[in-house]
Formats: sequence, C-alpha cells, structure tokens
Amino acid sequence: MAKIIDGKKISQEIKDELKEKAASLQAQGKTGALAVIQVGEDPASSVYVRNKKNACAYIGIDSLAYELPEETTEEELLRLVAELNEKEQVKGILVQLPLPAHICEDKVIQAISPKKDVDGFHPQSVGAMTIGEPGFLSCTPAGIIQLLKRSQVEIEGKHCVVIGRSNIVGKPMALLMLRENATVTIAHSRTRNLAELCKQADILIVAIGKPRFIGAEYVKEGAVVIDVGIHRNENNKLCGDVRFEEVEPIASAITPVPGGVGPMTIAMLMSNCVQSIEEG
Ligand code: NAP
Repeated sequence: MAKIIDGKKISQEIKDELKEKAASLQAQGKTGALAVIQVGEDPASSVYVRNKKNACAYIGIDSLAYELPEETTEEELLRLVAELNEKEQVKGILVQLPLPAHICEDKVIQAISPKKDVDGFHPQSVGAMTIGEPGFLSCTPAGIIQLLKRSQVEIEGKHCVVIGRSNIVGKPMALLMLRENATVTIAHSRTRNLAELCKQADILIVAIGKPRFIGAEYVKEGAVVIDVGIHRNENNKLCGDVRFEEVEPIASAITPVPGGVGPMTIAMLMSNCVQSIEEG
C-alpha cells in the first residue's frame, strides 16, 4: 500500500504560510497585484482564471482581471502587456494559455517583463533556472518538488525518470530534479523500451498527456510515482496519466488525480507573486 501524497493538504499549508507572509509584507508597506489576462471564453481557462483570483483573495493579494474578447489582436494584447509592465502596483502578469490561434504565444510570453513573469515561462526565467540563478520557477514542476520534499521523499542520488519534455512541465521538471541532485532521465515519444526504462526509476514523474497510459508494467516495486496528467474520462470524472488502482499497490508513494499535483500549481503561482511583492 502506497502512501498517498496529499496535494490538497500540502497546497493548503503553503497557501497559509503565504497568507502570513503577505500580511507581514503589507505591514511593511509592501503590496502588489497580480494581473490575470484571459483572451476568449474557453471554459477550462475560465475555471483556471477563477481559481487563481480566488487564491489571490485567500492570500490577501489584489488581482486585476482583464477579460478580452476572442477577436483581440496580437498587437492589442502586446500593448496591454506593455502597459502592465510599466504599472508599479502590478507585481505579476499572467496570460492564461492557450491563446487563440491568431496570437503567437511565444511573442506574448517574451513581452512580459521577467520581473513580473510569475508563470516562469519567459526565456530569461528558464535560463536563470537552468544555471541556478535566482528567478521565477515554472509553477507545476516547482510544486512537484515541494510535494516530494514535504512528503519526506529523498531526492538526492535517486534515479528520476521524467516522461515528457514540454517547455512547461517535462523540461523544467527534469532541470529542477537535477538541481536537487537526482540522476535524471527524460523520456519522450521517440524513447525506445519506455516500460523497461521507467522500471529503473526510483522516482517516476509522468507528464505524458495521455489518460491512464502508465500501468503496473512501468513501475518498479517501491518507486515514488507523480502523476501530472489531468483528463476527463467518458463519465466526466477527472483522471491522470497513470492507472492509479494498478500502480498504487506497487509504489511506495503516489499522487492521486484529482488532489495531487493540480492544487500545487496555483500554490506555487501564489508563491511567485509573494516573492515578487517582497522583491518590490
Ligand atoms: P504535452 O505538451 O502534450 O507533452 C507531452 C509529452 O509527452 C511530450 O514531450 C511527448 O513527447 C511525450 N509523449 C507523448 N506520447 C508519448 C509516448 N507514447 N511515450 C513517451 N512519451 C510520450 O503535455 P504537457 O503540457 O507537458 O502536459 C502533460 C500533462 O500534464 C497533460 O495531461 C496536462 O493536462 C497536464 N498538466 C497538468 C498541470 C497541473 O497543474 N497538474 C499543469 C500542466 C499540465 P514528444 O515531445 O516527443 O512529442
């Protein structure tokens, strides 16, 4: 029986710590707002945006909502980002992805001042993380590091296999595990003998984006399994990239979906916002 890594509980602990920190910063006259921009009305994005605003309210940070119509041009969006870069009170800028197809996401991400890049997606933030300089960390991978540390999972010297090499999850995840002194292997869609490779992992981090792809044949007895995937099944219930009921009896610890990695992403976004307010 694996230990269930409770992301809901750990994210709540982090949010409570941040609430205290935000209050003490406020007492020193240090305040600031998170600007959240949404273009169009994608229902999933609307839920994420609402959750981010609620998290700001909980912690005691102002949030400014910019809900722009689907037809917004790239130029208009870039102009708004440039205005927010200049606004003293705005300490974080978040552009909810995905953007409509006529807007280049990379261009918009690169327009955000690295000082306000609380999502940690700007090339400067990614570069700083790569060479171990201070900067904002990508929220989902940083949240997974917190999940492991706060669940007393030792990382140093362990073999970690990360499945997935996206810019927002797989690559930064691998770099952060490396920074924690794990020995890291990155697997992707061209990797040969995936199951054999995964079976060597002490810590298996699954960000493959395919519902219930990873079963018992991929997992070593006693491994720690982190499931980053979020999907809705045919009954509209949430599931991950891992077949939980098959893997849980083999693993020593595992994250559930929902209630594992998901809640950590917003907690780490809030952590980046508080860091930005602190740094002024
Ligand atoms: P993505 O951009 O689709 O990347 C998926 C990665 O998996 C790619 O690198 C791909 O390899 C690899 N892959 C696909 N099929 C494979 C296979 N058969 N064998 C081995 N590797 C394979 O997805 P993402 O944005 O990283 O997200 C991954 C999952 O995490 C999604 O379910 C997403 O919804 C979820 N997610 C959750 C959170 C959260 O807060 N919990 C945040 C972000 C994402 P190639 O590079 O070769 O194509």
